[in-house]
Amino acid sequence: MKNIAILGSTGSIGTQTLDVVRANPDLNVVGLAAGSNVELMEKQIREFKPLVAVMGDANKANELADRVKDTDVKILSGMDGMLEMAVMPQSEVLVTAIVGMIGIRPTIAAIKEKKTIALANKETLVTAGHIIIPLAKENNVAILPVDSEHSAIFQSLNGENKERISKILLTASGGPFRGLKTEDLQGKTKYDALKHPNWSMGQKITIDSATLVNKGLEVMEAKWLFGVEREKIDVIIHPQSIIHSGVEFVDGAVIAQMGVPDMKLPIQYALFYPDRRPMDTGRLDLKALKSITFEEPDIETFKGLKMAYEAMDIGGSMPTVFNAANEKAVALFLNDKIHFLDIYDIIAEAMSNHKVIENPSVEEILDSEQEAYDLIAEMKF
Ligand code: NDP
Repeated sequence: MKNIAILGSTGSIGTQTLDVVRANPDLNVVGLAAGSNVELMEKQIREFKPLVAVMGDANKANELADRVKDTDVKILSGMDGMLEMAVMPQSEVLVTAIVGMIGIRPTIAAIKEKKTIALANKETLVTAGHIIIPLAKENNVAILPVDSEHSAIFQSLNGENKERISKILLTASGGPFRGLKTEDLQGKTKYDALKHPNWSMGQKITIDSATLVNKGLEVMEAKWLFGVEREKIDVIIHPQSIIHSGVEFVDGAVIAQMGVPDMKLPIQYALFYPDRRPMDTGRLDLKALKSITFEEPDIETFKGLKMAYEAMDIGGSMPTVFNAANEKAVALFLNDKIHFLDIYDIIAEAMSNHKVIENPSVEEILDSEQEAYDLIAEMKF
């Protein structure tokens, strides 16, 4: 029996993690945490019977406690609750499927308690990779990627010597607007941007795919996870999302992972690594597929990737500001307050106003995040 706790259990990755649990009776859920979706959390508690459940919002936690008072579950709230769940002695694996930098502190706490991390929350590495990776090494804790591209790279590296990596091949679908130019993007609405061609994901990451900000965040995540510089990470547009990413080695051999686009595969792989379990998912039919194609990313139109490179090159607290500004801009776009292209302008404005802190502490990362939020709150749209 493997005991797991899930941060962000009501979201896209969280609910798919619970699908994997349903299919594998030797997985046991001991903790669940979410933001405000009380209805779904109640259902999850009744089905999975965790010891602890956390709501980010204190009022929602009270509402939840009332709804499930006939059960034995302990209800907690806010960051304190997430920290308590992250270190609970009964859990072996923490699945970090929360969205945003709020994932940093629980991840650090879990690593210190030697919990294995199944990491979906890429913001943790983007902003605090310089803290998380050395801490994981020091505590001999595995950080197993859940992001499909990083899982593909991890699977391609299996048994290989990391010193022999020539480059990482990070694939991207190109999102719903692939092939369009800046003038075509002017009037695009959230409904257009939310139509991802291949993947079904949470709203924020789907918009990030349309801007290529997500690929920028993934380059940063790959740099920390696999210890390679960004010059060795090659982003390739591959519209069919069949090759999920790969590695080119020093002898020119390329090993990549292929499969149908289904997040349950990388989730299950992280939960049972190094084992592979049978999975009831679609199968790749190469004959039916006939062809797969590749393109250079258009980083002049989809500036999210170009700006991510700038943030990475500057380093320190700049990736935090890139990420925080994007988070706020995407929320404004989803609330119909700004146009699609304004997302880039908001990120650029926040980055140009930021005074970089080298090697930021967790407090400085969270302060830099707040500074970007405050700047954007004062902007007129
Ligand atoms: P969703 O928006 O679907 O889910 C986010 C989860 O976080 C929800 O459970 C939400 O709870 C919870 N949450 C939000 N705010 C808080 C808070 N203040 N306190 C506690 N919980 C909170 O996101 P995704 O599942 O799409 O993404 C999660 C992470 O995984 C992101 O970092 C994303 O980049 C990454 N990822 C996602 C992929 C995907 O396919 N979706 C693929 C690869 C990576 P509630 O809804 O109850 O408010």
